[in-house]
Amino acid sequence: ADEQVSFGIDDLPVRDELRGKSPYGAPQLDVPVRLNTNENPYPLPEPLVERIAERVRDAARDLNRYPDRDAVELRTQLAKYLTDTTGHEVAPANVWAANGSNEVLQQLLQTFGGPGRTAIGFEPSYSMHGLIARGTGTGWISGPRNADFTVDLAAAEKAIAEHRPDVVFVTTPNNPTGTAVPAGTVLALYEAAQAAKPSIVVVDEAYVEFSHGDSLLPLIEGRPHLVVSRTMSKAFGAAGLRLGYLAAHPAVVDAVQLVRLPYHLSAVTQATALAALEHTGTLLKYVEQLKSERDRLAGELLAAGYEVTPSDANFVQFGRFDDAHAVWRQILDRGVLVRDNGVPGWLRVTAGTPEENDAFLDAVRELKKETS
Ligand code: PMP
Repeated sequence: ADEQVSFGIDDLPVRDELRGKSPYGAPQLDVPVRLNTNENPYPLPEPLVERIAERVRDAARDLNRYPDRDAVELRTQLAKYLTDTTGHEVAPANVWAANGSNEVLQQLLQTFGGPGRTAIGFEPSYSMHGLIARGTGTGWISGPRNADFTVDLAAAEKAIAEHRPDVVFVTTPNNPTGTAVPAGTVLALYEAAQAAKPSIVVVDEAYVEFSHGDSLLPLIEGRPHLVVSRTMSKAFGAAGLRLGYLAAHPAVVDAVQLVRLPYHLSAVTQATALAALEHTGTLLKYVEQLKSERDRLAGELLAAGYEVTPSDANFVQFGRFDDAHAVWRQILDRGVLVRDNGVPGWLRVTAGTPEENDAFLDAVRELKKETS
């Protein structure tokens, strides 16, 4: 028994780059108000729950067989959703799906990154980009941002020219800051990346449905090195489903199939996602509500004397604190879980239901009174 206790990760022959590292994970704490992982606070509507049960029942009758390896029906419906919402004609051949956009990103790095290659992101940004890079043996380059968290284009272009990365990540709206990246900036980064290598530019649009502006998806036209990554975890309120997807030139879709595990998307997942896509209209109604709650959070935080970073996502970054982690703990003591992403001076709150947001606002107003 003693031996089991003292035997740990470092006693195993794990890869050198994994030594001493900890796994990704926001705390999953059991508190009344959880506003820490950018989830959608609204459960799926009951008619959709029924439709999922129906579709999954049908799929269950065929579970002795492997699922459709190419997920053709699902990719067709995702392409239709993208066409309907962006006005840009997207074909099933432009679309690829996997278990969450994290898996999409992993497949992209397995295909275009890997040992001896590098990827760059402009930080602070979604920390999984760097972690998936590490997991796939891809070298990670941390590119800069301006103090206001916008992308510093000149510095980014310089970093791309200098490091000649194989993959460039642009997150818009950015997590954890909420910052949208203008189309002109993405185009300039794409040009810089093509001049330097040419490399693959991944535009991570996990939160784009909450944005004031438009999706950059139409930019894939005539740009075969541009990939737009999406997810059903946020706007569709289906984080538990694990369904992410990308839109790109069909050659990119062919390429990621070189690394995807056969039958990676279970028949149950495909059936559930298809049911959800039948209810797109209802699901996206909550998006409008969340956008206005996001704006209310930002306004009330400002009114209470906090700083906020302008947000195009379903969350708001707020500060500034000498010790953000201490404030995170004080908010938690009041029954509200927000996120400390490790950005010095800042915390992040996800837009929840109006009641949850009120609980959060009460907590932070109270803190302000106590400390002033
Ligand atoms: N990209 C960004 C920017 C995210 O914030 C997240 C989730 N936090 C993801 C991708 C991954 O989401 P999922 O795997 O649930 O699609």
